[in-house]
Amino acid sequence: MPELPEVETIARGLAERVVGDVILSVWLGSKPEPFKSPAPELAAVLESRRIARVGRVGKHIVFDLEPDRRSAPRKAKKTKKTKKAKDRGGQAETFGGVCGAQWIVHLGMTGRLTIEAPDREVEKHTHAILTLASGRELRFVDPRRFGRLSVARGFLAPGKEPLEVELDAFVRLFRLRKTPIKSALLNQKLLSGVGNIYADESLFRSSIRPRRRASSLSSKELEQLWRAVREVLEEAIALGGSSVSDYVNADGAEGFFQLQHRVYGRRGEPCLVCQTPIRRVVIAGRSSHYCPHCQK
Ligand SMILES: [Zn+2]
Repeated sequence: MPELPEVETIARGLAERVVGDVILSVWLGSKPEPFKSPAPELAAVLESRRIARVGRVGKHIVFDLEPDRRSAPRKAKKTKKTKKAKDRGGQAETFGGVCGAQWIVHLGMTGRLTIEAPDREVEKHTHAILTLASGRELRFVDPRRFGRLSVARGFLAPGKEPLEVELDAFVRLFRLRKTPIKSALLNQKLLSGVGNIYADESLFRSSIRPRRRASSLSSKELEQLWRAVREVLEEAIALGGSSVSDYVNADGAEGFFQLQHRVYGRRGEPCLVCQTPIRRVVIAGRSSHYCPHCQK
């Protein structure tokens, strides 16, 4: 399942490719599951819209849409508008505060957005095809159909954005929680988009055991954790930047970056710091990996 850094990287890759383009028409498949908004509404909102921005909110890819105001010859206008979109800040901005229509894509387990030439064969499990004014197609492919497409206005993720949350707000989220800190990190109503891998890695870097009650963490530990979550996610995003074109355009997650995991998936292997074998426990149904020596 793509986690926050992957979604961020994919959103950036898409932004480079489709901002400024116009959705001319939309084809939607007959399987109902991928459509969280009714299919006719999806088509109505997407058609004849210009893609103004693409960004990430939690683990959702959000396309900000504007009415298509093409009146002058398209070439001249496109250059100007693309530049303008970049000037507006691109990825640093938080999405969701705008009032225009938005297309929201959650990739689920196996969802992919690919940009194709129209003559390229349509893959099995393609659920949506957007024909773009540039002559390309933006396709949504999802074999397992856990991905979701919807339209919204002013979309906001339920939790705080982990790359932007301030320390005091972060502390307030966790200070009174009686659940294990690992479960609290995965609670999307608190932080949006921190998944299993990055939760384990953040806890290792802040020397905190995943089973600890969130309310038992000291201020210093919460500060270490706040820093670690951001560091881990930012490192993964930095690693992802170079391989995004493969991900957006090619077959599945193969070739996509992997953060060098220090604990996740390393059960029984020596801790990279102290050589103690990494342990795996199950907390609230999710596997958790930690070093019993380095994490307290
Ligand atoms: Zn260790």
